[in-house]
Amino acid sequence: MNSSETILSVNNLNKYYGALQALDNVSFEIKKGNVYGILGPNGSGKSTTLGITLNVVNKTSGGYKWFSGKMETHEALKKVGAIIERPNFYPYMTAEENLWLVCKIKGINYAKVNEKLELVGLTERKNSKFSTFSLGMKQRLAIASALLNDPEILILDEPTNGLDPQGIHQIRDIIKQIAATGTTILLASHLLDEVEKVCTHVLVLRKGVILYTGLVDGMSANDIFFELNSDDNENL
Ligand code: ADP
Ligand code: MG
Repeated sequence: MNSSETILSVNNLNKYYGALQALDNVSFEIKKGNVYGILGPNGSGKSTTLGITLNVVNKTSGGYKWFSGKMETHEALKKVGAIIERPNFYPYMTAEENLWLVCKIKGINYAKVNEKLELVGLTERKNSKFSTFSLGMKQRLAIASALLNDPEILILDEPTNGLDPQGIHQIRDIIKQIAATGTTILLASHLLDEVEKVCTHVLVLRKGVILYTGLVDGMSANDIFFELNSDDNENL
């Protein structure tokens, strides 16, 4: 694997919602095979950053490029798996049926369904209706669904929010397993310990400004580490 390959580059991105500046010259690079955390308290601009790169939020200025601009954004986004909203599937269909439907819509081989259900630990529950799932199981099904086409990168926005400790542990374990297969990961979180446990690299965002980019290991040498620790208790 060529670890220097760039999956996503973001250059001087600015975003205003009316008069409110949500992003202030945000720049960073996502390289293949790493696990990135976008770490910052509520309102720091994490979801806005993800939304712009996924083409669901309009930028004000600046730019971003997927895969070094080798293809159009809509083509590039087919290689991106993203979960940026609460998982939503057909409630009266089973987990397996819901994934079959995704395969049908996207033209993916149905054989992927069982493989991905296994990866997220839902094989035993594949014949259960989505409506019977706990939030953690719903989130795991969403991850399976986002992985059906074997994307280059998986993007997750606060994937453990609202889960109990066991659910949190399961999701973090699954993310690590996915990373171990070589899939690049970009994860937004307001939890320092989540980023420390799961990520290799971190982009620290505060009030729309990037304060630190680099290895998670290097972050503790930086003053912002202590500030972030105190943000840990902030409720969303
Ligand atoms: P985070 O994901 O880190 O919590 P967001 O990107 O959701 O941060 O929000 C960044 C800032 O932009 C916040 O001040 C938030 O209130 C504001 N914001 C986000 N979405 C909108 C929107 N659709 N309209 C107006 N303001 C918004
Ligand atoms: Mg958010």
